[in-house]
Amino acid sequence: MPVGGRDYPRNWDQFLDWFPDEASCQQYLEHLRWPQGYFCPRCGEFNEPFRLSRNRLMCRGCRYQSTVTAGTVFEKTRTPLRTWFAAAWYVTNQKNGVSALGLQRVLGLGSYQTAWAIMHRLRRAMVRPDRELLHGIVEVDETFLGGPRRGTGRGRANTDRKQHQVPDDPRKAVVMIGVEMHQPKGFGRVRIRQVADKTKKSLLSFICDEVEPGSTVHTDGSLSYISLPDHGYQHHRTVQCGSEDPAHVTMPGVHRVASLLKRWLLGTHQGSVQSHQLDYYLDEFTFRFNRRSSRSRGLLFYRLLEQAVVTKPVTYRDIAGK
Ligand SMILES: [Zn+2]
Repeated sequence: MPVGGRDYPRNWDQFLDWFPDEASCQQYLEHLRWPQGYFCPRCGEFNEPFRLSRNRLMCRGCRYQSTVTAGTVFEKTRTPLRTWFAAAWYVTNQKNGVSALGLQRVLGLGSYQTAWAIMHRLRRAMVRPDRELLHGIVEVDETFLGGPRRGTGRGRANTDRKQHQVPDDPRKAVVMIGVEMHQPKGFGRVRIRQVADKTKKSLLSFICDEVEPGSTVHTDGSLSYISLPDHGYQHHRTVQCGSEDPAHVTMPGVHRVASLLKRWLLGTHQGSVQSHQLDYYLDEFTFRFNRRSSRSRGLLFYRLLEQAVVTKPVTYRDIAGK
C-alpha cells in the first residue's frame, strides 16, 4: 500500500516541494512505470539506461531509445509534465471533478483546447483494465442518459443514432449500472457502461463482463434477466408491477447511483457530454465513486498517475471523435 509522504505528496505544499521542475516529474513517472527498475521495451532487459538529451533513455543492451512518456497517455505531449501533474492533483482533489474550463482557469492555461485534451486523456486513465469484478449481492438495472443537445452535436447526431439503435428514443443512451450491496446497508463498488440497446443480449453481456459468477444478481422483473442462473449467477428478481414499493425502495443502489450520475453530468459538465465520449465520463464517475471513502486525496493522485503510465496514448483525433 502506497504511503503518503513517501509515495505521494500529502498536500499541496508537499506537492510543490516534490515537483519543482520537469526532472522531478520525469523521475516520479519513471518510478511509477518501472517500480523494479527500467526495462527496455524492445529487448525486455532490465538495466540502468544511458541518459541522453531530451529525456531519452537508451538501453545498454540493444541501444534502443525510449522515454518514460512513450507509450503512455503523456506520449508526445507539448504540455510540461508539471502542468499534467497539477491537473491530476486538481482533478483528484475536487470531490466532483472539474470541467475543462475550470481546469483552464485554475492552471492558468492559455488555451481551452489544452485543458480539454488533458482532461480527456486523464479520464482515459481512470479505469484499470485488470480491475476486479463486482461480487456478493449486486443490483443491476438500466437507465437512460441524455442524448445529443442541439448545437453541440455538429451533425454527429445521425451517426450516434445508428450506433445506439434504441427504438423508443434514439437520442438516449442505454446505460447499465451494477452496484455491490453491503449487508445490512451501504454500497460497495459500481460499474457503469453504455450498451448498444435494451436487448437481452446487451443486458446480459454487461453482467457477464462485470459481475463475478456465483454472485447474487438483483434485478427488476424484466424477462431479459431470466436466464441468469444459466450463466452461473443466483438471481433475485423483484417484480415491480403490482408492487407497492417504488424503485428507490426495491432497488436503492442503482437508483441512488443513477441519480448521482445524472446530477454530476448536469452539474460539473452542464450536461454537455457527447455520446461518443460518454463512456469516458462514466469511467470518471466510476473512479470517483469507487474511491469516495478514500481519506487521502494524494492517494487518488498517485492511483491516477499510476494508471496513466500504463494507459495507451490517444490522439487528439481519437478524443474529438473526428
Ligand atoms: Zn534493449
